[in-house]
Amino acid sequence: MQFSKFFSSGKLALSYELFPPKTVKGEENLYANLQQLMEFSPDFVTCTYGAGGSTQAKTLDIVGQVKERFAVPVVSHLTVVGSTVAHLQSYLERARQIGVAGIVALRGDPPLGDESFRPAVGGLRYANELVELIRREFDDFGILVAGYPETHREAPDPQTDLENLKRKVDAGADVVVTQLFYDNQDFFRFRDRCVQLGIDVPIVPGILPITSLPQIERITSLCGAKLPARLVDRLRERDTSEWHFEAGVEWAIEQTRDLIEGGVPGLHFYVLNQSPATLRILRELRAESTRG
Ligand SMILES: Cc1cc2nc3c(=O)[nH]c(=O)nc-3n(C[C@H](O)[C@H](O)[C@H](O)COP(=O)(O)OP(=O)(O)OC[C@H]3O[C@@H](n4cnc5c(N)ncnc54)[C@H](O)[C@@H]3O)c2cc1C
Repeated sequence: MQFSKFFSSGKLALSYELFPPKTVKGEENLYANLQQLMEFSPDFVTCTYGAGGSTQAKTLDIVGQVKERFAVPVVSHLTVVGSTVAHLQSYLERARQIGVAGIVALRGDPPLGDESFRPAVGGLRYANELVELIRREFDDFGILVAGYPETHREAPDPQTDLENLKRKVDAGADVVVTQLFYDNQDFFRFRDRCVQLGIDVPIVPGILPITSLPQIERITSLCGAKLPARLVDRLRERDTSEWHFEAGVEWAIEQTRDLIEGGVPGLHFYVLNQSPATLRILRELRAESTRG
């Protein structure tokens, strides 16, 4: 599928990212939340693969179910962690049979307990190699890759990281989706530097609405994104989960509004299998656009 079509219609593209739940109840909860989120007719829905050491086996089940239940294009994330090329090829073949529209092609993180990433024997080393494999043998997939407004934590410096991002685009990626961030200046600076380097595919901001202070502190400590002092002060004004949700949604509305004004081609929401925060944000933005 030509992913660029989602970003060339002049309308803001919308996508949601899910993760594979561990239990049947979690899966039912996911479909109920996604049903709510369908109010905004997303262009595609993605599901993570082995993130944070979670199971890799369920991703294709989830995207298959989502496609069947909601008739929406689906995208599977795929990492090279622990996989031979033959295993990656077999996964991509199964994804094709299910009718997956695209792949978020990733290297992945080292398994828990390992300090640095080591490629599997007979496997791949970097995401650009996975992009090359998909372009060569599964050219019908749209390819999305990860970008880091605040620089990937293993990269020696921002410029090297951007050059590595360009390798993924030169290898055939259609779209860059970013790591979560809370200061839009980081995103705009990153986008400008991508353009200077000749990265000419859509760069879509990844947005994670904060719904809990302990949770976001854990997530940002893992991925290296920073929380601006003004946001932390606001969250700490009251120590209740209700307030963290309200303050997080308020920040995300402000952040998203500013990104749209800044001309982003789409919004990718890390919905974490929940709907209330993303729904509040999208409803507010819709109300503002009809008012204004
Ligand atoms: C949108 C998004 C979705 C994600 N989904 C998942 C998921 O589903 N499952 C999961 O486990 N993780 C996921 N992650 C996390 C991701 O796997 C980690 O951030 C991982 O550490 C890097 O993956 P990458 O694909 O960006 O790697 P790469 O692009 O390979 O980069 C990894 C590091 O190597 C450097 N590098 C890249 N290419 C080269 C090269 N050719 N030569 C030398 N250095 C190079 C880069 O600068 C970077 O520091 C996601 C991240 C994002 C932003």
